[in-house]
Amino acid sequence: MATRKEKREQEKNTNYFFEFIKIKKHFFKGFTGYLKKVKDHRHQSYVDYTPEVILFLVILKNMAALKSMRLMSESFNKEECIENICKILGLEELKELPHYDTVNDFLSGLEVSELEDIRTYMIKELLKKRCFEDYRIEGKYWGIIFDGTGLYTFDKKHCKHCLKREYKNQETGETKIIYMHHVLEAKLVVGDMVLSIGTEFIENENEEVPKQDCEIKAFYRLAEKIKQTYPRLPICILGDSLYACEPVFVLCDQYNWKYIFRFKEGRIKSVAEEFEAIKAGETKIVIKEKDGVTKQELLWVNDISYNNREVNLIEAKIDTEDGSKSKQFLFLTGIKITKTNAERLVATGRSRWKIENQGFNNQKNIRYHLEHANSHDYTAMKNHYLLIQITDIMVQLFENGLKILRDLKKTAKEISSNLLEAIRTRRVTDEDITLLVKPIQIRFT
Ligand SMILES: [Zn+2]
Repeated sequence: MATRKEKREQEKNTNYFFEFIKIKKHFFKGFTGYLKKVKDHRHQSYVDYTPEVILFLVILKNMAALKSMRLMSESFNKEECIENICKILGLEELKELPHYDTVNDFLSGLEVSELEDIRTYMIKELLKKRCFEDYRIEGKYWGIIFDGTGLYTFDKKHCKHCLKREYKNQETGETKIIYMHHVLEAKLVVGDMVLSIGTEFIENENEEVPKQDCEIKAFYRLAEKIKQTYPRLPICILGDSLYACEPVFVLCDQYNWKYIFRFKEGRIKSVAEEFEAIKAGETKIVIKEKDGVTKQELLWVNDISYNNREVNLIEAKIDTEDGSKSKQFLFLTGIKITKTNAERLVATGRSRWKIENQGFNNQKNIRYHLEHANSHDYTAMKNHYLLIQITDIMVQLFENGLKILRDLKKTAKEISSNLLEAIRTRRVTDEDITLLVKPIQIRFT
């Protein structure tokens, strides 16, 4: 263990921004090439800035946790910073950075699939690297959490795709309509990291639709996209009790996917009743802490018939850290439950909350201001959302992969401000750039 003084010394010698670039390069060698290749809708004779400059700028904005486009322009408009961007992108010259109107104009004409394809490239590279093999469920399946969340809310109609909700003021009896945009996310769980692997916007096709779009409808669209993109990837999907229903089971059977869902008794009554009726006769395992205090009690029943299949249900009573309360969880899964895998399955089922914590909460309240619309144009809004997901994959690899950050136990906010300071004040040299081709070692624990 390094002493505090040694850690401070180490920190003084660390250029965080360059470390970030090293990790990006380590995992995604072709990244800048992909940014360059996106389809540009602009009239080429008026183009001052190439796509990679524009897209990289927004990624840096997200990396540095800057809330607005205006703040992005203000913070990065500094000689050192412009030179750093020029060097990293391997450009011959970069005199200024694009104005944020130029950035939003570009994003409003960019097909959303272009950025989705870049994210797919990144996830495929990570899977190829085989550095997360230990996190596979049952040694085989990749856990993918699905969950929806709200993004933007407006008092007035924003576009023809807006979701609408009526609110009645209890006192005046007046009704008010609010307009919203929601999204369904699929995130790959690898240890403490949750990496965006798929996105489906929950939106109405037009204003005349008889029934509005919703999370579960978006799920069928997103599941199909993921199956097409990763046809042979062994997947186990994780979701809340909304997903524990026949059409989702059918889809999982068809795609050959496993599942672990939170289960609530009301969701499928017959399954709940059968579980209650026979669970008393089943094996119960009690997991104790080192000092003998009960940590959790697990009880399960395999092969409960439901329509044309068998499902398995596990109940976990888990004591809170201070031992004052015990919480009960029920999970429904297609994976056979045994003494050996019971505890791990419950832990996996519970990891679903990571999409809310490490996922949405972090992206909304701690780092990327996800609910702040950087543009009023719907396509640009979607592209900003995807650029946040792309940045977040890199930032999580950086945070979890760089030893000094683990040693110093820095918060997300500190890490982002260190990155901002570094890009603004420390020059990346030509020698640094030549070092980028050297392989590096990264460990996640
Ligand atoms: Zn809208």
